[in-house]
Amino acid sequence: MDEEKKYCPECQVGLIQRKKGTYYTWIENEIVIVPDFPCWVCDVCGHRDWDQGAVFNLGMILSPAAGTPTFDRITNIPAGSQKGDQRKGKRKARRSVL
Ligand SMILES: [Zn+2]
Repeated sequence: MDEEKKYCPECQVGLIQRKKGTYYTWIENEIVIVPDFPCWVCDVCGHRDWDQGAVFNLGMILSPAAGTPTFDRITNIPAGSQKGDQRKGKRKARRSVL
């Protein structure tokens, strides 16, 4: 067991402990809910940080846009200003988890 203690980045006092919570993210216009998602929770202020490795992995599974709720601004870019498809070569699997 790894008993390394980590202090909360928010209040600097509490200890953050590994727990699980329900993670929400948006994929285009649909919300995706992932139960039992690993996270770190402060025992003093309740600050919660999602496990970055897990968030990254989820993003790879769902979509490059996962975790970026303001993505809709991207769609306002006039056609022709983008050089090709930047997602080229990446998997486009979506919502395959659910
Ligand atoms: Zn805290």
